[in-house]
Amino acid sequence: MNKEIPVLYRKEDNCCACGACVNICPKNAISMKEDKYGFLFPVINSNLCINCKQCKKVCAYQNVTETNKPLKTWVAVSKDKEKLKKSASGGVFYTLANAVIRENGCAVGAAFDEDFELSHIIADDERTLEKLQGSKYTQSNTGFVFREIKKQLNNNKTVLFSGCPCQVAGLKAYLGKDYCNLITMDLICHGVPSNKAFKDYLKFFQNKKNIKVKKFSFRDKSAGWGINCSAWTDRAKKIRIFSTSSSYMYYFLHSLTYRKNCYSCKYADSHRAGDITIGDFWGLEKEHPELLGKNKIDESKGVSVIIANTDKGIDFIKKNRKLFDLYKSSFEKAARGNAQLNRPSRYDARRKDILELYADRGWKAVDERFNKNIGVRKYSGVLKSMIPVRIKRTIKKLK
Ligand SMILES: Cc1cc2nc3c(=O)[nH]c(=O)nc-3n(C[C@H](O)[C@H](O)[C@H](O)COP(=O)(O)OP(=O)(O)OC[C@H]3O[C@@H](n4cnc5c(N)ncnc54)[C@H](O)[C@@H]3O)c2cc1C
Repeated sequence: MNKEIPVLYRKEDNCCACGACVNICPKNAISMKEDKYGFLFPVINSNLCINCKQCKKVCAYQNVTETNKPLKTWVAVSKDKEKLKKSASGGVFYTLANAVIRENGCAVGAAFDEDFELSHIIADDERTLEKLQGSKYTQSNTGFVFREIKKQLNNNKTVLFSGCPCQVAGLKAYLGKDYCNLITMDLICHGVPSNKAFKDYLKFFQNKKNIKVKKFSFRDKSAGWGINCSAWTDRAKKIRIFSTSSSYMYYFLHSLTYRKNCYSCKYADSHRAGDITIGDFWGLEKEHPELLGKNKIDESKGVSVIIANTDKGIDFIKKNRKLFDLYKSSFEKAARGNAQLNRPSRYDARRKDILELYADRGWKAVDERFNKNIGVRKYSGVLKSMIPVRIKRTIKKLK
């Protein structure tokens, strides 16, 4: 007779791989496995499963509804100019995380290892915290970090958890109750490609250039605030990668390579999972022209939006407000430039073709398709990067 085990999800859209089920299982019977595109899905080992169904109950993606509402919104830029340089937006994450660590707490977020495997880790010193800094546009594996966080919370440590909204919701569901020493921070997120796809892209890139990449930044600000990557190589050389000329970044920014559930993500909404939400303040020049100019915000260095969704979130920002240049804004202003505060990314049928090609013939074939389809348009990023920010701003105003 077949042993009865829970069905974790019926359709791939019903799983975000937050890891709550993996962490809650009292028998360690659940582990994440990659599908043919590299997306992680939980799999139950029927030999270990006792059918307690805790994994089903804890699934935030299928059961739990977020009730937080945006209470206050700010434009924010960290006063720590060095850390701002290395952050994707206005350096909000590092600055707040460092404040927590200095008070003997810890911060949790996504870090690459030397093989570009992305996972959530705990940082309780500044050196480790640097690994968490910067956006990585691929899915992070939460592993067993929720269990570790619970231990820290029970030891009365303050924990700042940051991640995609589904990961924040997964942690909260796993914990099952509110902890006054936990602060949750979700990122505005338009979707995640698999970590395997990123690693395969990187392998392809290294082979093509005959180099070894030691460090990769998805948001190198050396030429201003935007979405441009850089790879640091074994030959102590930096290679700039424009998002218009990189197959990985182009398909990422056009929402063509995300996990299936990202296209129906219920957290891409004004009801946020975290105590605070952070992201890029896109559209600042339209929404807050009064903040730009001499002696005001220098948008070329990166600007964040902070949205406080709970009283705890408001108190946390107020407590640390001296660390930022902070200006009042509104959710509506932030959402106009950031669609994922209201709705998920739109599904495009080309996603299936690209991912099937990748699964059948690897990233090289995907890159060939990209080059064939995009033609000379791939040089547009290079040309745009040559226009000074001042002139770009004037063009935008004229538009
Ligand atoms: C996949 C993804 C999609 C995003 N989409 C948008 C968007 O559509 N609009 C928008 O305004 N902002 C988006 N962001 C957020 C934005 O890129 C910045 O991360 C955010 O503004 C924080 O910037 P910062 O300067 O405060 O800190 P940074 O130091 O740049 O941010 C680092 C924080 O992000 C976390 N992080 C990095 N990569 C991941 C990951 N793959 N999974 C989970 N956590 C991660 C780190 O743990 C750390 O907490 C996205 C981020 C990611 C990772």
